[in-house]
This record gives sequence, C-alpha cells and structure tokens, in this order.
Amino acid sequence: MSYQIAVLKGDGIGPDVVDEALRVLDASGGPELTFSEYPSGANCFKQLGTPLPDDSVAACRQADAVLLGAMGLPDVRWPDGTEMRPQVDLRFLLDLYAGVRPIYLYHADHSPLKGYGVGEIDFVLLRENVEGLFASMNGGIQLRNETAVDSMVITRTGTQRIAKYAFELAQQRCAERADQSPGHVTCVDKANIFRSMAFFRQVFDEVATGYSQIDVSHAYVDAMAMYLVRQPEAYDVLVAENMFGDILSDLAAGLVGGLGMAPSADIGTDAAVFQPVHGTAPDIAGKGIANPVGTILSAAMMWRWLGHRHTDADALAAGERIEAAVRIVMAEKGATTPDLGGKMTTHELGSAIADACN
Ligand code: ATP
Repeated sequence: MSYQIAVLKGDGIGPDVVDEALRVLDASGGPELTFSEYPSGANCFKQLGTPLPDDSVAACRQADAVLLGAMGLPDVRWPDGTEMRPQVDLRFLLDLYAGVRPIYLYHADHSPLKGYGVGEIDFVLLRENVEGLFASMNGGIQLRNETAVDSMVITRTGTQRIAKYAFELAQQRCAERADQSPGHVTCVDKANIFRSMAFFRQVFDEVATGYSQIDVSHAYVDAMAMYLVRQPEAYDVLVAENMFGDILSDLAAGLVGGLGMAPSADIGTDAAVFQPVHGTAPDIAGKGIANPVGTILSAAMMWRWLGHRHTDADALAAGERIEAAVRIVMAEKGATTPDLGGKMTTHELGSAIADACN
C-alpha cells in the first residue's frame, strides 16, 4: 500500500512544524508516502493573487490525505477587514464536516491545573465544521455602516451526521480502552435560549436513540467552559456547533499545554485534512521555537485515518508508533519547547520524537 499526501505548509510557523511532522512520518516506518507540496496561505496571496489556488484545491481532492500547517497573516486581509482563512474555505470546498480535536494530557506539568490534583485528561472535542455560525462566513451582511449580521445555520442532515460521527467515535474509543468502560457523548449547545440550538439538541437526541450502549449528557456551552476547567477528566466525546467548538477547543488545548500540543483532523466523506489547532503564531514565526507536537500528532491521526479507511494495519501501527514516541519524549521533564517551559528548538523536539519512533 502507498499513499499520496498533499502538503500545504502555509504561513508563519506552518512550514517549521510541518517539516518536523514530515520527518517523523518518514521515521514512523509505515507504508510508503509520497509528499507533494502546493502553494497556499497569505504569502501565496501576495505572490499569486489568491490564498488558495484552484490547482492546490484539485490536488487536495485527488490526494489520499492532506497535511496542513497554518495559514493567514494579520497584515494580509480582504477589503472587508477579515483575515484570509483558506484552511476554513477548504473545509467547505471538501465538505470536511467533522472537526476532530483530541485533548490528551501527556505530562501533568504541562497543565495550568498542575497543583490542583489534575488527573488523566483524555477526551475528543468534535466540532461541526461547515454549518453553525461559520455557515455565513464571507456572506454576512453589514447595513448602512450601522448593523452587521451573521447567521447561525443548523440543518437536520448536518446535525445528524456530526452526531452520528460522535457516537461512532465514542464506540471506537470504548473498544480501544483497556478497561472497555462505556463511551460517553456530551452535546454542548445553548438549547435554553436559541431555537437553532434547541433543534441541534433535538436531532442529537434522535440520533442517540440508535446508540443505547453509549451514555449521553447535555451541557450549555457557557457552563461547559467552567466544567472543562473544573473537571476535564470527566469527559469522553463532546460535540458542538462550529463556533462553540472553535472556542472550546482553544480552552481545551490550554488544559493540556496550549495550542502547540493540540492536533486536529477535518474529516469528510471523501477527503481529510490533518493540521494542528493553532494558527500561524506570527509572534514566534522565524524563531525556530514553535512547538511541533500538535502537527506531529495530527500526522499520527492521518496514519490512523488512512489505516481505518483502507483497512491497513501497517498504517494504524505507524500512527501508534508516533503517539508512543510522543509519550516517551514528553515523559521527560523539560523535554519541550519554550511554550511549555523547556529550551528545545522546533527541530530538536521533532528530532527527539523521530528518534523515539525507532
Ligand atoms: P488562529 O485564529 O489562526 O487560530 P490565533 O490568532 O488564535 O490563530 P495562534 O497563531 O494560534 O493564534 O497563536 C496564539 C498564541 O499561541 C500565540 O501567542 C502563539 O505564539 C501561541 N502558539 C500557537 N501555536 C504555537 C506553537 N506551535 N508553539 C508555541 N506557541 C504557539
């Protein structure tokens, strides 16, 4: 088995962290991968007049999977003042409806909750990626320089498929857990206030009836922000509308060491893009100190996704090897980049993880 991977490095720290992920993929010993790089991002806009050329999109469609760094720069904006977000456009173009964000604490020292008896944090935040408040992206209205409106869009079909994804994921996580403790899905919404959110919860509950072996709970998004800080160990799979998922995923990343530690996958029926949760981090770009772990773990997610999709045990094993290597390196106190109090460079940390794969 061999796979074609489209690589979009993007801007800021994107190229640095992707280079480390590519090295770790090479070291992970899985099936053959062919990497092809395509232009994208704010710098691409400066050169080619578009942040996401059609050829790059076509290559993403044709590839077996896409590995992406980060895109957008604060000083490169559309005339309406918004930043260029080609990675978000790609979600809509490829219908990548499931934003999968695993949150795992590798070392208690990484958490701002250290000293407060933080336990094992291991949950997945599932963000609906193509509806919700982002559905009107690039299309909201601004009236007479006085009023601006963006709309929350929730559909039955969109909610059904993300809820189904959440329950299937909970089932899979349950099967992979050593103690096989039951899966648990929490619907995060604001059903007490918004009709759109009451509908989101209604459809979620309808889907839940098909998964009687999975525990179900509900929480309002404001309360969930507090619960995640007070008892992050309590959660397994959370599912939320696009904007709520966006906000909670940064909070959740903060619990386990910050944006540099958080991987993600944007999954559709026919395509998938793997990228860290973080953005281009212009404040540290070019300094060689960005934490590459989120991107490296996204690469491990790519192996796992390819493995499940193609029933390829070698790809699954390669993903597990990368995760094990991250666990080995992270277990060492101080083996981190400066964002977590260490002194390693991006390249040194990437090398340590690549070495630990062998
Ligand atoms: P976006 O809106 O594109 O998600 P953002 O404006 O929220 O981006 P980021 O670019 O993700 O912001 O950066 C937020 C903060 O987190 C910055 O201080 C940045 O330096 C830090 N940060 C982000 N990614 C990393 C990383 N990989 N390593 C270290 N620090 C990071």
